[in-house]
Amino acid sequence: MKIPFNSPHLTGKEAHYMYQAVNNGKLSGNGEFTKRCQSFFEDKYGFKKCLLTTSCTDALEMCAILCGIQPGDEVIVPSYTFVSSALAFVRAGAKIVFADSMKRNPNIDAEQIEALITPKTKVVVPVHYAGVACDMDRIMELANRHNLMVVEDAAQAIDSYYKGRPLGTIGHLSAFSFHETKNIISGEGGMLGINDERFIRRAEIIWEKGTNRAEFFRGEVNKYGWCDIGSSFLPSEVVAAFLWAQLEDMKNIQNKRKLLWDKYYELLRPLAEQGFFRLPDVPDYATNNAHMFYLVCNSLNERTDMIKKLKENDILAVFHYLSLHSSEFYKDKHDGRSLPECDRYADCLVRLPMYYDLKESDVEDICQVIKIG
Ligand SMILES: *Cc1c(COP(=O)(O)O)cnc(C)c1O
Repeated sequence: MKIPFNSPHLTGKEAHYMYQAVNNGKLSGNGEFTKRCQSFFEDKYGFKKCLLTTSCTDALEMCAILCGIQPGDEVIVPSYTFVSSALAFVRAGAKIVFADSMKRNPNIDAEQIEALITPKTKVVVPVHYAGVACDMDRIMELANRHNLMVVEDAAQAIDSYYKGRPLGTIGHLSAFSFHETKNIISGEGGMLGINDERFIRRAEIIWEKGTNRAEFFRGEVNKYGWCDIGSSFLPSEVVAAFLWAQLEDMKNIQNKRKLLWDKYYELLRPLAEQGFFRLPDVPDYATNNAHMFYLVCNSLNERTDMIKKLKENDILAVFHYLSLHSSEFYKDKHDGRSLPECDRYADCLVRLPMYYDLKESDVEDICQVIKIG
């Protein structure tokens, strides 16, 4: 492909910091680079505590444990999302109650959540699709009224805001991803964000195989041992060192992505105004972190034609999620409600190439092909 869909960006400092991590003589997790990365997020965005994890999926699994999910508990998740948003809770025995997307964008329709709440509901998982905020005031108000936990799936939402508040700092807990397809990467990687102080101590224990090792290394206890369930959720220092190089360059990375995003928007707006497709929607309460540039076509056929046309020109555009409520794994467990907006995005949404090293002239070429198509 002349223009791939994604291409992981290196800042140039990754190998330098990874070498430094090796020279520090501590390669396992929770060392110098891990602390630097965690403090970066805590200081810049105001999380009570951050813990690096080996993936966003792992961070979500920690959330399921911290929320005390028991078999039979219900968790409300949008159907238009990545498998992990639901999977992490399913592993703990939860029943997933899928919610539909909004008409205006693929985020969970907050107006429909209340009707899905039962005495068994424990958690709501807003997913900030494309890094654009869900209606968090509405969701937090519902959660408070019904005594539910809110876990933000902020995998795509780094450095994005809701009414001036950083995404991931609003719910009780949140999960970020540094997978190579995201804005800031470490190959595989993620982070748990903790906003409710009650969870900090237990989270550190779950993170380190159910032991109070973190307290031991801070000198708070004189020996460490097995205190709880958990796993090895922390990444090695080599991964944290890679991530540090990316975080140092975040401003530059975000600016370049926004420049490309704005270019797409400007060039495609005339076609959207003629009704050929819809452009990405960023509500007044949200910011855009340029994670993704998507279009919503008028039909599955039109989307198929667009992807084909782009492919003929050596440009890879891709569709996105298939509805989780009708997935092979969950369709028999789903309660049978139809989720029409979710199905529409599954059929009609297409994502255009978006990565740091994409050139403005590439964006022009891509838009030209779409125009002629
Ligand atoms: C990428 C992504 C995940 C999974 O992230 P990993 O780090 O690969 O586990 C989960 N949820 C959403 C919405 C994502 O986009």
